[in-house]
Amino acid sequence: MARVISIANQKGGVGKTTTAVNVAASMAATKRKVLLIDLDPQGNATMGSGVDKYEAENTCYELLIEEKPAEDVIVKNTSGKYDLIAGNADVTAAEIKLMEVFAREVRLRNALDQIKDQYDYIFIDCPPSLNQLTVNALAASDSVLVPMQCEYYALEGLTALMDTIQKLASVVNPNLKIEGVLRTMYDPRNRLANDVSEQLKRHFGDQVYRTVIPRNVRLAEAPSFGAPAMYYDKSSTGAKAYLALAGEIIRRQKKSQAVA
Ligand code: ADP
Ligand code: MG
Repeated sequence: MARVISIANQKGGVGKTTTAVNVAASMAATKRKVLLIDLDPQGNATMGSGVDKYEAENTCYELLIEEKPAEDVIVKNTSGKYDLIAGNADVTAAEIKLMEVFAREVRLRNALDQIKDQYDYIFIDCPPSLNQLTVNALAASDSVLVPMQCEYYALEGLTALMDTIQKLASVVNPNLKIEGVLRTMYDPRNRLANDVSEQLKRHFGDQVYRTVIPRNVRLAEAPSFGAPAMYYDKSSTGAKAYLALAGEIIRRQKKSQAVA
């Protein structure tokens, strides 16, 4: 049965989509069956997976609003070797129409229940806001992975996000866990980044991943080639960091299963 992980942070530009695409590809490279869901109307995870968002026949709109079966909207085996449910501007319409439908918070959860047994991991790339789409993602997830940049005020935003996640969770999904906090675009030469990183570890302890994603131009370039970094330049520090992250996620899951 798949572990469903939302990649969320209400702040834009913190590395959600880069993380979603590259961790999905890294997991797929370890022979896990992976589905990536692009819930952001910007469709960046779709383009970054080598799928043209303007040509996508089905998106999260068909899944959430028309209730087409997930099997019928999935794009199989993208350039990152994982399956994808695409996102584009239609998903904005889905966000609006969700307000009018029955059981609007659990549309995604119900849709995924039909296909969860076909995957090991399902990653959901969330939009940069806590709207109805993000609520659907959190309701459908086992856990949330929070990417963050180590900069001034980051901690404040993070505490607010954690509070919101907890409040939301108590209503739509009491079992929701924090999968982990990921430091992205990290520059070890930057003193502020190091200070914030230390504070983060004090505050969130083991929830902070040991793996750090460095600032790496290959990660920024890869989407324009329609492929995750590991297929664009597998020796880049960015590609290696996301492979390490996939390993850490797997190890953490094994550890928690051993305890349970
Ligand atoms: P979000 O989805 O949170 O808005 P993105 O993943 O789209 O964030 O990242 C924002 C911008 O930063 C993009 O242009 C992306 O290519 C770039 N970027 C993300 N992570 C890195 C990184 N580790 N190194 C360099 N550039 C990065
Ligand atoms: Mg994004």
